[in-house]
Amino acid sequence: MLASNVQASADDIAAVDLLESDVALVIDPGSAGVRGQQSLTFDKLGAGRRVTFETEKLTVLQASLDGKAVRLVEDGSRSLTLRLPEAEAGGRHVLKLSYEFEAKGRGFVRQDELLASSYFACDWMVCNQEDFSDRFHLTLSLDLPKGMRSIGPGGIASRQDREGRTRTTWASGEAFPAYVYGFAVGRLERLTLETPCETELVVFAPPGASDLEKMFEPSCNMLRFFEEKAGAAYPAASYAQVYLPGSRAAQEAASHSLIGGVFLDPILEQPQEDWVIAHELAHQWWGNRVTAQDLSHFWLNEGIVTFLVAAWKEQRWGHEAYDKEIVLAEARWRRRIETSGDVGLAHDGSYASLGDRRSIQYYKGAVFLDRLRDAVGEEAFWQGLAQFTAGHIGRSVGSQNFQSAMQDQTDEPMDTLFDEWVWGR
Ligand SMILES: [Zn+2]
Repeated sequence: MLASNVQASADDIAAVDLLESDVALVIDPGSAGVRGQQSLTFDKLGAGRRVTFETEKLTVLQASLDGKAVRLVEDGSRSLTLRLPEAEAGGRHVLKLSYEFEAKGRGFVRQDELLASSYFACDWMVCNQEDFSDRFHLTLSLDLPKGMRSIGPGGIASRQDREGRTRTTWASGEAFPAYVYGFAVGRLERLTLETPCETELVVFAPPGASDLEKMFEPSCNMLRFFEEKAGAAYPAASYAQVYLPGSRAAQEAASHSLIGGVFLDPILEQPQEDWVIAHELAHQWWGNRVTAQDLSHFWLNEGIVTFLVAAWKEQRWGHEAYDKEIVLAEARWRRRIETSGDVGLAHDGSYASLGDRRSIQYYKGAVFLDRLRDAVGEEAFWQGLAQFTAGHIGRSVGSQNFQSAMQDQTDEPMDTLFDEWVWGR
């Protein structure tokens, strides 16, 4: 798809800063077709007459820019290019769209009368999936058959019942990068965990799911543990976990996570199998609110979280449980070294596969933090982590931010250690 009058050359394309997105989806969880409407407010960054948005899965039916209709031309490009009135830097614009898409495949989890999105937010609204530095506010209305529930970002701003349907509007409250936005809808039971935590801890699950209290029991203690390590209280009123029986889902979103039964069910036999709750909950700080500025610094999301799962296990289950996690991470990283060599944690080149990326960003990342903890000492290490975290809440960060927070804790120069592990020098 392409807007009219547009023969865009790459150097004429300006970058954008998304500010606010207002999305309304009409969903019937039993079928894949979804209709959407969006109002997107953005600033143009830099000079250039045009901006372009990847539309990927979306079929745009109608569009207007600043109140003027945009003529759509189908050219198979899966992107929407818009001509702006001004060529110079700056300028605020409002893009309005109606569109449709099929909620299946990459980025969607479907089970009976349940539909959840996972990571690929720009498959259900117009945004920039890989721009981790661009945080924006989202209002998301989910229109569903009456009796179905929805889970969206932040809190419920309004709810309307009309003609057998319920429309619930969620407001993110905070600004998050695109990939953090998600929703889950369908026939779901809602359970509020009875805990001493001030944060409301909610579990959603399809009717008939059992042992939920038992499986999710560690949530409150984990929340407190991460608050302490982050040096920052969980900044929202509520956190929801959506339990998906038989699923391998494990994905964090703005104020909820998808928790697959394949990963969580073993906790009923082995209480130590609590990693998936811990991992996704830890992302509420590391990832969602302190976000790697781009994919090359992604170890700041995943390496830190993998390490903190080990640290949680150390506190809950003892030092052996910690060692077990670090040894496992090291084995996964070493396997990668044997097959394709090593790279620094902030490697900005490509990876052969998602698994290959994980062996560095998740596992080498966790091992590095274990070694760093040894090198700087217990107190300085946790102080450094808290300074890094609390000091960057609501921002996107790079490895240099982490390095300077750690360097602030000690007079010993840390360059050699970071050069070797992080920068690959
Ligand atoms: Zn993760």
